[in-house]
Formats: sequence, structure tokens, C-alpha cells
Amino acid sequence: MGRKLVVGGGVGIVAVLALLVGLNSLSKAPCLQLIGDLTCRVETDDKIVALTFDDGPTPQGVAAILPILDRYDARATFFLIGEDLKRHPQAARQILAAGHELGNHTYSHQRNVGRSRAFYRGELDSTGQLLRAVGSDSDLFRPPYGRKLAGLPLEVERAGLKTITWDVADRAEEFPEPADYARDIVERVRPGSIILIHPMYRGNATAREALPMILAQLRDRGYDIVTVSELLNHQSSASPQ
Ligand SMILES: [Zn+2]
Repeated sequence: MGRKLVVGGGVGIVAVLALLVGLNSLSKAPCLQLIGDLTCRVETDDKIVALTFDDGPTPQGVAAILPILDRYDARATFFLIGEDLKRHPQAARQILAAGHELGNHTYSHQRNVGRSRAFYRGELDSTGQLLRAVGSDSDLFRPPYGRKLAGLPLEVERAGLKTITWDVADRAEEFPEPADYARDIVERVRPGSIILIHPMYRGNATAREALPMILAQLRDRGYDIVTVSELLNHQSSASPQ
């Protein structure tokens, strides 16, 4: 009987550990969320993809990226961090003036698991105010590190925001050479994909150097490169509901 108890306790601990590991994986899974809607790609047969940039803005990052996007006639969505936006509002205005779209990526870019509702609300609302101050009325939100369990999605819903994740994220650590980094992304893209690239900071040189290659290869494959909002519109007009 004592042995049974030990076995039972062991099974209990394993079950709790499995649950914790499961919740941890679920919190990071780009296409899954327990509460509220989330878009990681759009169902379509048309050759159309959304290009998204996370973090920043930084003046250097924006100055490097905008001319490349212009050269390939590509529209993109920039998910900005409130702290960076507060420091560099002019960089955000330049992005908008070039015809691109902004989104909310929280104020301080922390892992959004196990915090209070008030914390999430502050992260979303302060960034929303900064976005409106530079002239953006975006309703798009992306959780830092793709992390979201219950509290954050509830506040995202309250704020009237849509959670946008991705189905193709960059892998700069595995592919430090720009050509490899670009090829790895383009090979995983399919119609309706949402691509995530991190080009803003000093350490992101690979992404910035790879960007023209990514755009050229997507164009070669016949893709139109649009903002997330355009991709979402495309979905509603294309689906029979
Ligand atoms: Zn981020």
C-alpha cells in the first residue's frame, strides 16, 4: 500500500510537470491560444504574404529598411515597442509616411505570463496612446516572444485589439549568413503566410542584409508583399462565410 502511494505520488508529480510543460509550450505556440482569436496566417490560394518586423523603432533600423521596401514595392507591418516608440516617435512617423502599418508590441517587451491584468492593461494602453500620437489607428497586437496565456488575451480583447502572430519566423541564430537566413525564410513561405523578421537593433545586421534577398526571392516566386491588414481583408473577401 505504501508503495502504491509512492507510485501514485510519482504519477501526480509527473502529471503536474507535464501540465506545466504543456502550458509553457502552449504559451509560446504561434498558432494556438486558449482564449480569444489569433491569426498566424491566412487561408488563401493567392500568392500574397504579409511581411512583419518586430521591435524598435530605431532611427538606424528604419533608415536601412524603408528604402529596401520601396525598391521592391513592398508594404509591411511594424510591431513597435512602447519604450522605443517614446524615444523615437519620428522613426515611427517615417514608417507611416512611407505607406506601411504599425502595430502594438507592448510597452516594455516582457514575457507576458503570470502577470496581473493591470500590468497587461498598462502595457497595451500606454503603447496604444503612443501609436495614436504618431498618427496610427492600428488595432493589431503581437505578444513579445509570442507568449500569451489567459490574462494577456483577455486584456487584448478588452482593448479591441487583434492578436497577430506568424507562421514563418526568422532563425538568425541557426543561419547567421544573410543568404542562408533569406533562403530559410523563403523556403517556408506559402500563400497567406505571415513572416516575422527582427531587423531593428545593432545585432540584427543579418536580417537587414538579407532583406533585399528575401524580397527579390518572394517576387521571383510571384508573391505580393502586403501589410497584415491587407492580408486580413483578403481573407474575408476570399472566404465564403
Ligand atoms: Zn519582440
